[in-house]
Amino acid sequence: MLNVAQMKASMTADLTIIIGGGLLGVTSFYELTARDMPCVLIDAEPQVARRTSYANGGGLHPSLPDPWNNPGIGRHLFASLFNPNAPMKLHAGQLPHLIGWGFSFLRHSARRHYDAITKANFDLAEYSTRQTEALQQFLNLDYAQAAPGTLKLLRSEAERQEALRLADMLAAKGLDYEALSHADMLAREPSLAAAKDIIGALYFPGDGIGDARLFCESLAQAAVARGGIMRLGTKVKGLLVEGGAVVGVRLVNPNGRQQDEEQIRGKVVLAAGVGAPQLARPLGLNLPIRPAKGYSLTLDARHLVAVRPQHLLVDPMQHIAITPLGDRLRILGMAEFAGFDTRVEPRRLRQLRGFFERLLPDLAGRLDWQGGAGWAGLRPMSADGRPLIGASGVDGLWLNCGHGHLGWTKSVGSARILADIMQGRAPEIEAAPFSPDAALRRLR
Ligand SMILES: Cc1cc2nc3c(=O)[nH]c(=O)nc-3n(C[C@H](O)[C@H](O)[C@H](O)COP(=O)(O)OP(=O)(O)OC[C@H]3O[C@@H](n4cnc5c(N)ncnc54)[C@H](O)[C@@H]3O)c2cc1C
Repeated sequence: MLNVAQMKASMTADLTIIIGGGLLGVTSFYELTARDMPCVLIDAEPQVARRTSYANGGGLHPSLPDPWNNPGIGRHLFASLFNPNAPMKLHAGQLPHLIGWGFSFLRHSARRHYDAITKANFDLAEYSTRQTEALQQFLNLDYAQAAPGTLKLLRSEAERQEALRLADMLAAKGLDYEALSHADMLAREPSLAAAKDIIGALYFPGDGIGDARLFCESLAQAAVARGGIMRLGTKVKGLLVEGGAVVGVRLVNPNGRQQDEEQIRGKVVLAAGVGAPQLARPLGLNLPIRPAKGYSLTLDARHLVAVRPQHLLVDPMQHIAITPLGDRLRILGMAEFAGFDTRVEPRRLRQLRGFFERLLPDLAGRLDWQGGAGWAGLRPMSADGRPLIGASGVDGLWLNCGHGHLGWTKSVGSARILADIMQGRAPEIEAAPFSPDAALRRLR
């Protein structure tokens, strides 16, 4: 229950209610609170960052803004129906739930959409990464942050050509990169000496690393210190609608009695990750967001600090990466269209381990695999690869969701854009590509 001071706050006409305590909700909570807007953050979990923002790859990646529906994705997805180990896998049972979204996903894989969205995403990812660094310094946050850069590993000449094409396109917008031969790559990252089948890499010095869960926990506390209120362990049952406008939220009542239902009134920011479409649907809003399941495996690497990889290592074709995260190593990957299932499949963890063993065989033998922490989370994937940030088209409802595989990278920038739009200011970068209104029209 709210205490008296909190009750008063919840009566405030200009209260903002943020649904979701993951990366997008917490950054929105901080940004709005820091601008003196009274806010309450609500999450069903007992602590912030317990769903998709819990154990992600930790990469702040302006270098990887390309959506996953790249040209040719249709063929890969079809083939994945028959391959249980496909890095990006479509489960046949999910086809009925993916019909409208899936057509849009495939339509946007055409080269002209793919390139335009990649450029827009780069602007947001770059802006957001720099804002994350600024926030870290301003608040003196500690979340195992580092700025070593990414090595995008290449396995064939065709891969190198496509990686160079994308990098050159983004270099025109400010992306810094270096093409490395096999020898140059080993000079930069000696831990790859025994790696099999790698012909070289692209090096992106502007990418960073950080533990998203630690970041969310610290930032949420910073928002509370500025007067924000958190209601954790509290599930939103639905949006409160009056005269066609959203005027608050209805909470799930622990005692189950309809007449005791608690309501909080205020404008609403929907930052509920893969839960956003369900909350928006009764308003007639069909948010183009579906879950894409990914895995991570985190290992203690304290004893290997001198010999472990120094960079983020990304294999784009296999959708797998390795992150040196403080004194841990995290291996992550896969994208499965498997509905809302978050079970951790041991088979997928074995695949992550196999990848590591082929890439870093010497190191693999020195890690405690039994003690590793396996995890699975659901990326909120939008149909065209762009997040939805701003006014929903329904009065009183704002969106900050659908950030897919780059929600950590884009979170701080997205929250700033949202706050600017809510305050009637011009965002610091072009925000039109992320307009929810445009995304909803595109889907119709
Ligand atoms: C394996 C993996 C690796 C990744 N690696 C990276 C990476 O290296 N870099 C990067 O930038 N991104 C990465 N991502 C993506 C990133 O983690 C996500 O984009 C991001 O976590 C999404 O945050 P979110 O706030 O939208 O969703 P979430 O973190 O899921 O937060 C949504 C919150 O809403 C709450 N909620 C939903 N419905 C309700 C309701 N009705 N009532 C109350 N609360 C509700 C949930 O409890 C949840 O806490 C990765 C993702 C995965 C799965």
